Amino acid sequence: MQLRDIDVPMPGLGQLLLRVHACGVCRTDLHVIDGDLGEPKLPLIPGHQIVGAVAKISGNSQFRIGDRVGVPWLGSSCGQCHYCQTGRENLCDFAKYTGYQIDGGFAEYCVADERFCFPIPSGYTDSQAAPFLCAGLIGYRSLRMAGDALRLGFYGFGAAAHILIQVAKFHGREVYAFTRKGDRTGQEFAMKLGAVWAGSSEEAPPVPLDAAIIFAPIGELVPVALKGVAKGGTVVCAGIHMSDIPSFPYHILWNERSVKSVANLTRRDGHEFMELVSKVHIEAEVNLYPLERANEALDDLRHGRFQGAAVITP
Ligand SMILES: [Zn+2]
Ligand SMILES: [Zn+2]
Repeated sequence: MQLRDIDVPMPGLGQLLLRVHACGVCRTDLHVIDGDLGEPKLPLIPGHQIVGAVAKISGNSQFRIGDRVGVPWLGSSCGQCHYCQTGRENLCDFAKYTGYQIDGGFAEYCVADERFCFPIPSGYTDSQAAPFLCAGLIGYRSLRMAGDALRLGFYGFGAAAHILIQVAKFHGREVYAFTRKGDRTGQEFAMKLGAVWAGSSEEAPPVPLDAAIIFAPIGELVPVALKGVAKGGTVVCAGIHMSDIPSFPYHILWNERSVKSVANLTRRDGHEFMELVSKVHIEAEVNLYPLERANEALDDLRHGRFQGAAVITP
């Protein structure tokens, strides 16, 4: 990424101009920048976990100037395709994504389709709320896909897992946290947040798990997690990109175990998650970077140099 001065964008009909106060950094931003995802607009302003204040409105709006709103990864959906018409706009054939096909929030200003923006609950600072917009609410969708699992494994303990463990605890579930081998700091961080067990992904869980969520973009973890779940257990892949999954013997999938992926979010997920965090206080651990140091934030994420989430504060 290069720092550039550009004109403040003009909101089109149905769009909001937002003064960006905080924008979370997500592993997907790394995938976009690395070229792992095939269809970015270019040049592009990445960033899809935006918290900002409404600075200008074009057309009628549910929001008013000065309102605090959040902009998630799903920037727009068509409303017409089979998926949209069956409550699955996360799978829309013509969706556009923030910070990928629409300029995002690593900027002082951005525009967003107001129908896809969420009010941010009070009780959180802008930077604490920013990771909710993807880590939180796509994580929440992954948690829902895990069903009513009591014993839940998290493979990778970054921004999403550190928020989701707090939701899982509120539900009364047990979280088993798996990190890179030798990542004592990450394991201690997970225990501090209430994991019942933390260890390396090379270790077997101390008890069979009911479900596992893989947050790390590492395909090798799929058979590892399958071996860790009990009969009937589910392995949910929460990321948008993953390295290839090695072949594995059928018997680790046998007995009604399943593997599924989570794609994007619906607006319903967003509203449900915001409602949840307005009732249950989530303590997000945020590492702040000014806009000028956005590349450093991404580099630190790549190398696992912080716990919790990185947030850019323009
Ligand atoms: Zn994301
Ligand atoms: Zn659609």
